[in-house]
Amino acid sequence: MRLGIISALAEEQQGLLEAMESPYKLIHGKREYTAGKLWKIDSVAVLSRIGKVAAAVTAATLVEKFNVTHIIFTGVAGSADFGVKVGDVVVADSLAQHDFDASPLFPRFEIPLTGLSRMPTDRELSLKLSLATREFLENESNQPQMHRGLIGSGDQFIKDRAHLGALKDALPDLLAVEMEGAAVAQVCHELGVPFAIMRTISDNANEEAATDFMHFVQTVASRYAFGVIQNFCKSLT
Ligand code: SAH
Repeated sequence: MRLGIISALAEEQQGLLEAMESPYKLIHGKREYTAGKLWKIDSVAVLSRIGKVAAAVTAATLVEKFNVTHIIFTGVAGSADFGVKVGDVVVADSLAQHDFDASPLFPRFEIPLTGLSRMPTDRELSLKLSLATREFLENESNQPQMHRGLIGSGDQFIKDRAHLGALKDALPDLLAVEMEGAAVAQVCHELGVPFAIMRTISDNANEEAATDFMHFVQTVASRYAFGVIQNFCKSLT
């Protein structure tokens, strides 16, 4: 196994890079890939940057150039459901590109020629990631919850209630919104690479989203990503 770990933001990956044994760095396509061992697992960590295209090229490069066999994405997201609170974690069962619409040629959200409007994540990998998440959250004092379900991705930072409401009307089971996951899911689906994703909820995708988000990434999300990936890697050996 060779594990690819993608995050969108530097704060989230800092701790993992410091924990990596005998790391070596390689710059390719404007990104810095760090290869090494994380708790005995052969790993390659990289920042995708923000948005679907950035995430897709990063995922494809991890597979084609760095020969990873599995991919995990860690990041933050806005809540898209009343039951999903800031500080909770969502592990996706499937992901939709919520801004994809080739109707009337194809149904809204369907990715042409795949027949899918939702890309599934790998069951086994997602199960392991959920267990690692649950184990980590148990030790958090404010009792954050883990949720499993649909995550939506689009090239939009969702920061207004009306926009979120419209998305929720179209995708009623949507739990969280972010900007990369569904792109990585599609690349992994097409290349046959198992993929799983965890997103810590940083904001409520409303008018306060931008301020909540920055504070949250620095104080909470980075610690979550580190703790969950540590549990996850340890569970593999
Ligand atoms: N101010 C940041 C930009 C972050 S964009 C900077 O300068 O780096 C938001 C990132 O967090 C994206 O990678 C996205 O995946 C996720 N995210 C968090 N909350 C979101 C929301 N409400 N809508 C969309 N993406 C969100």
